[in-house]
Amino acid sequence: MKILRIAVVFLIISAIVFLAGCRKETPAASTDTESAAVTTEKQTETETETETETETETETETETVTEPVTEPAPDPIPEPDPDPEPDPIPYPEPDPEPDPIPEPDPTPDPVPDTEPPVVTGEIVGYTSKGFPIEVREGRTYIGGLLIVNKTYSLPSWYDPGGMTPECASAFYTMCSAAAAQGLSFYSISDYRSYSLQSWLYQTYVDRDGREAADTFSARPGHSEHQTGLAIDVNSTTQAFAYTAEGQWLAAHCWEYGFIIRYPQGKEWSTGFIYEPWHVRFVGTWLSIPLRDSGLTLEEYLGIDSVYN
Ligand SMILES: [Zn+2]
Repeated sequence: MKILRIAVVFLIISAIVFLAGCRKETPAASTDTESAAVTTEKQTETETETETETETETETETETVTEPVTEPAPDPIPEPDPDPEPDPIPYPEPDPEPDPIPEPDPTPDPVPDTEPPVVTGEIVGYTSKGFPIEVREGRTYIGGLLIVNKTYSLPSWYDPGGMTPECASAFYTMCSAAAAQGLSFYSISDYRSYSLQSWLYQTYVDRDGREAADTFSARPGHSEHQTGLAIDVNSTTQAFAYTAEGQWLAAHCWEYGFIIRYPQGKEWSTGFIYEPWHVRFVGTWLSIPLRDSGLTLEEYLGIDSVYN
């Protein structure tokens, strides 16, 4: 019996121990399971996040690769130089060897000698020096030369169309000769029509009065400029006589068939004051004797110059 009791007690104790053990293991297993579940969830979340990040990165990379090539950024516009330095002025290259100045011909050839004009019209008289006086279509020729002064006039309709060919040719020959000396001649007034002279003369009359105007400006029809044989050179001032051009003109115009038509101190003969700029073409047959004699055209021909 005693053994039976011991066996019963053992069984009871064993049973108690067994039950006690079951009570302890169940909660522990449950906790482990929950932890494992939590861990698994966390791992899953982590893996998901990792995958998401990886996908995002991959997408980003893919987008970067497949992104269309955009136009390159334009070059920035250079800002203007606020104070640009001007280009340096290039120095002219010096003429290494200046052309030698041609030596002037000591005796330049004048305009070929001209012959006195042939008298072809009706002779109406002779001058005090014996030159024949002709009248052709209202114009007066003395010694075959067209004469216009205060005594002899031109019809209002007379118009040679400009400088006459022989006058122009002689003038340009003279200009070329003067240019070789470094002098420049040009016409500031040559042919003037009757109407232009009328306007010009009246302008002077209005400004200075008729008496004064008659000393330096011709009445219409009495101007030598209407013949196409007279030229005002360079300047119509008395100072022209003191210029290099004025002095050359006075010394050399004769060689080309021109005369200083209204010389100094000869107003009583020509009817006009000294005009160092006014030349008249007559041809060398007459210009040379006039230079040598110092006579005016009126003196040489034996005529006067007075308004009637
Ligand atoms: Zn003149």
